Amino acid sequence: MCNNLFQNSVPLMKAAVYYSLDNILIENRPIPKISSKEVLVAMKACGVCGSDLMGWYLKTRVPQVLGHEPSGVVVKVGKMVKEFESGDRVFVHHHVACLTCHYCRDNGYTLCKQFSKTHLDPGGFAEYFRVPAPNLQIDTLKIPPKLSFEEATLIEPVGCCLRALNKCDIAKSDSTVIMGAGSSGLIFTMLLRAFGASLIVTTDFAEYRLKAARQVGADLTVNPETESIIDVVKKATDGRGADAVIVAAPNVNAYLAGLELCRKGGKLCVFAPTQPEDFMRLSINKLFFSEIKLIPSYSTSHIETRMALRLIEAKRVDAKKLITHKFPLAKTADALQMAARNKNCVKVVVLNE
Ligand SMILES: [Zn+2]
Ligand SMILES: [Zn+2]
Repeated sequence: MCNNLFQNSVPLMKAAVYYSLDNILIENRPIPKISSKEVLVAMKACGVCGSDLMGWYLKTRVPQVLGHEPSGVVVKVGKMVKEFESGDRVFVHHHVACLTCHYCRDNGYTLCKQFSKTHLDPGGFAEYFRVPAPNLQIDTLKIPPKLSFEEATLIEPVGCCLRALNKCDIAKSDSTVIMGAGSSGLIFTMLLRAFGASLIVTTDFAEYRLKAARQVGADLTVNPETESIIDVVKKATDGRGADAVIVAAPNVNAYLAGLELCRKGGKLCVFAPTQPEDFMRLSINKLFFSEIKLIPSYSTSHIETRMALRLIEAKRVDAKKLITHKFPLAKTADALQMAARNKNCVKVVVLNE
């Protein structure tokens, strides 16, 4: 009895709690309390990311409220917060670096110790979330009036792609192959088109996604089930292979194929992680003589999120062509299951209207 009375006195909200992909429950959770340097945001939209679907990655962190691509409205402001007020429409980045450590001084923000420790409370798939002080100070961006909450959910994923392109320095490469035409593969296609790449080849097993890739700027699309990617790429590059290959599909075969597609001295961007127990055989001899560079790129920093916002605002990244499905918060389970299992979708977004 007492317990009930106590629970009733705490304001509650709905949150989608992840136990496994097949067990995501809507539960009542206390609305987070904020400190003087924090704000509370009412979630309006939150994208489903490929990493929300990686069971092996999440296994040790359950139960958890997922969702790290959120936008929303500031509804409560700590006393010491000067930059934000109630009613501000915001994008909030879930990870922020310390800006002062060894890694941060060398642009390695995503490798910073603080980076992976910081996160929103409890996460984006909830009616409200608390923005801790570092996230508020370093990477909470006001959404321009013309940009919708849905469009703003793309800031984080576009930021991840921008970071990879910058790291690999391939925006203007003559020829780039993108392995995988999920939302990241399509964002890469759009960005490379906007930045002036001369040949973009996008591959996937799903015709639906290949069609989307052509619509957003791929010069050539290849379904490896029906066509040889090597033949297509060699033919388009005078037999050399591609200057750069971005692997945006989380499997070893995509990496093996990617290495074969790279020209001598080319770059292979490691963008999608595989399971920790997955390995691939790599001939050091071949690597040495081919001088192919392997360049991993994890996540995004406060530098790219700002650029991403501007590119989305300028419609260089067209959100309407990426967001194919929307679900209400109460149906978060359906949203994640669709994103994981249905190849006839690209970006899935959860809304709280
Ligand atoms: Zn993400
Ligand atoms: Zn740092």
